[in-house]
Amino acid sequence: MRHDYDHLIIGAGMCGEAAAQAIHALAPQARIGMIGAERHPPYDRPPLSKALWKDAAEDSVWRPVADSGASLHLGRRASAIDAAAHTVSDDHGDVYHYGKLLLATGGSPRRLAFGGDRVLAYRGLDDYRRLRELARPGAHIAVVGGGFIGCEIAAALALHQCRVTMLFPESRLGVRVYPAGLSRFVDGYYRERGIDIRSGRLASGGEQRGESVLLRLDDGSTLEADAVVAGLGIVPDTALGSAAGAEVDNGIHVDACMRTRVADVFAAGDVANFPNPALGRLRVEHENAAVTMGRCAGRAMAGQATPYTELPFFYSDLFDLGYEAVGRLDARLDIVEDWVTPNREGVVYYLEHGRVRGVLLWNTWGQVDAARVLIAEPGPHDASSLHARIRA
Ligand code: NAD
Repeated sequence: MRHDYDHLIIGAGMCGEAAAQAIHALAPQARIGMIGAERHPPYDRPPLSKALWKDAAEDSVWRPVADSGASLHLGRRASAIDAAAHTVSDDHGDVYHYGKLLLATGGSPRRLAFGGDRVLAYRGLDDYRRLRELARPGAHIAVVGGGFIGCEIAAALALHQCRVTMLFPESRLGVRVYPAGLSRFVDGYYRERGIDIRSGRLASGGEQRGESVLLRLDDGSTLEADAVVAGLGIVPDTALGSAAGAEVDNGIHVDACMRTRVADVFAAGDVANFPNPALGRLRVEHENAAVTMGRCAGRAMAGQATPYTELPFFYSDLFDLGYEAVGRLDARLDIVEDWVTPNREGVVYYLEHGRVRGVLLWNTWGQVDAARVLIAEPGPHDASSLHARIRA
């Protein structure tokens, strides 16, 4: 079958949906098509590891994509692009002609070396549904990876009375991100809540045996669990960008208006590597970036290009601890800690040659813009200039 769209969006996630809304707002008559590999229409991803494990209803996740008037082609993967002919083909053999094309393909989760219906690479709504089935009170769940997914899912499972073992290669939870004292505190906080932490360990293999999973660790030990959830990071889905002729290096390179170097081809969200005035080129894998970059791309596709100058923020919940953050959180940078109450409320600044590159707002809310202003400042800054600079 052949389809003809003014705007074709590959990727029916939060980024693609935001782009469709932005296009529709500026060009209500435009024909918008959206291709999505999942069988679900666009939904909010953050609740899958946060609110849905608390009191939110599952149907609160759906995005209002119908308001954009986009035609959805779900359960399909775009498999080829002919950028000169302005056509895309999918894995069902359909061909889509486009005026403007957005690659909002996101990324694929890294997977363990073995599989099974009790071995989840936690990324989408189907993974959430499956884990809810498996997460019976008393079930033993092994969480592999100590990053965003690992920390949020381990806390969610513990709150649901599961027995949780976490394993990850770092020496402590958060050691690459937080200052040493805060990382020790978070690691201890998880242990106090009954999570069995195996730090310094990689999952090297394993197998599902009936209703249990045997995990092999890199020290030769094994771990038996009722299910395994892996949060091993994602690999950006850049193949279509390469096929289109876009520059690809840690994501699809775009300019400040989300344009690739290929005429009429845009990219945004997790897959896009974009320029920021303060921090240079970066790729950000968080909700706020997906939505705001999607909007920026949509406006540009509809003919009203405005540069993306904002710095995306991100946030996380770790039991009853929580934070918002902006910029680069890298424990190798120079760190200034400014606590109101140690490890409970305060701000951590990450500096490079006296310039603030990142700000962690630990249980400090409503200060994201203040953090962005600081990152845009040339500095120089140090502990005394930053003392009490940002407070809740
Ligand atoms: P991540 O990069 O945050 O963490 C990956 C973790 O896996 C690290 O601890 C790493 O050392 C570990 N790891 C890698 N290989 C391993 C192995 N063989 N055995 C054990 N551990 C191993 O990635 P994630 O947690 O998978 O999150 C996926 C994506 O979702 C990221 O893009 C993240 O930004 C996003 N996300 C964001 C939020 C948020 O913003 N709050 C929440 C959830 C997910």
